[in-house]
Amino acid sequence: MNRTNRRGFTLVEVIITVSIIGILLAIAIPNMVGYRKGAEKEGCQDQMRSILSAIEEARLERDYTVLNTLQTSGTIDVLVTGTESGNWKNKYLPEAITCPSGGAAYSVSYNETSDTWTVTCPNAESKGHAL
Ligand SMILES: [Zn+2]
Repeated sequence: MNRTNRRGFTLVEVIITVSIIGILLAIAIPNMVGYRKGAEKEGCQDQMRSILSAIEEARLERDYTVLNTLQTSGTIDVLVTGTESGNWKNKYLPEAITCPSGGAAYSVSYNETSDTWTVTCPNAESKGHAL
């Protein structure tokens, strides 16, 4: 075999190519993970705002059945199932919502002295938001 007619890559070329790809991946992967975490946190805060809006709506409707159930149970299920009043069914959330990072259910609590509701994420990466 003639050395000048050979095809393919030398070992050094392969090592350099693989290490360049490795360096690029080492830069790119942590950034992608960071973006994903940020998006999940924003999605979670959107969900919590939706829950607080739903509670505010129940307060405006003076739907004490829903509000009392929320206070005693701490779960948001009653916002989805709603209450019957005459022929009208009050539903405040269209469907059960869970945290985008983990999928666990939110809980709510009511503070009587400050008259505020607090939504808590089960994953606890973002807490708070009071009405
Ligand atoms: Zn969350």
